[in-house]
Amino acid sequence: MVSYADFYRMPGQKRKAKEMGLHEYLSVPEGVKVYLDNGAFYFLRRNGETPKEDYEVFVEQAKPDWWPIPRDFIPTPIMTKQEQKQCFDRTMLVNFAYERDGYTPVIHIGRFLKDYATEIARHAGLAEKPTIALGGIVPNLLRTPKAIPYAEVLDALRHVRQTFADKEVHVFGIGGTATLHLAALLGVDSVDSSGWRNRAARGIVQLPGSGDRVVANLGNWRGRKPSLHEWEILEQCSCPACKQFGLDGLKMNGLGGFCSRATHNLWILLEETRWIRDHLAAGTYRDHYKERLNNSTYVRLIDKVVETL
Ligand SMILES: [Zn+2]
Repeated sequence: MVSYADFYRMPGQKRKAKEMGLHEYLSVPEGVKVYLDNGAFYFLRRNGETPKEDYEVFVEQAKPDWWPIPRDFIPTPIMTKQEQKQCFDRTMLVNFAYERDGYTPVIHIGRFLKDYATEIARHAGLAEKPTIALGGIVPNLLRTPKAIPYAEVLDALRHVRQTFADKEVHVFGIGGTATLHLAALLGVDSVDSSGWRNRAARGIVQLPGSGDRVVANLGNWRGRKPSLHEWEILEQCSCPACKQFGLDGLKMNGLGGFCSRATHNLWILLEETRWIRDHLAAGTYRDHYKERLNNSTYVRLIDKVVETL
């Protein structure tokens, strides 16, 4: 997943991506899909409008494999009901305007989720779309004030999966090892998150099946350090970065350290996905997920989902 906002900020790179196409520009191996994010968060923070025509041209020329409507208006839990309604209305207007040409409609978790489902089902063009994307989950998973309880977030995901049974469902902002389990169990088709890069920038690495650990001292970021056993796991890591630079690479400051940690974190997520997929396919997930995951908050939620399988 790459963000249109990044290209918007770097006109030279944008031009190159348009000339070469995203696949070649990113040197992506064959078979790997490139998803484009519309950068709604970036434009939201700047109170700016997404330049819709520029986005359309970018999509047409850079040729991502998947792209959402040019702009969606993300509700946050601290907004009043009225403000959330406004986000819903404005996002639906863009969904209606882009019922054509491969633009994936976007809906948001929150008070108006069911209204989204109703509106989309009622609209012939949108109802026929093969894809849908769910956003707005991040502020809720971060436990911000007035965030929706986890159980309701789960119900919402389930509702979207059931309502849009014939569509490929993408969820924005899922990318922790444990939340990947929830997404897979609920039948979400794809997820994305920049969490692995943000963690890397803060000196944090992810471990298989468990939470974040701080390995590099980069100033004010606090967090749990790896235990002796966890350092051993990291030492054995077979990701491309650890194989080349070992623990020193993960602990380094500067760009080198960031790249090692980012590569490591993404590798861990891909391995976790593989672990989940293999165990679900073999019917052995139920027997093993508890020993795999030691993150108590999510294990209780996963228990609930597993009961319904
Ligand atoms: Zn590694």
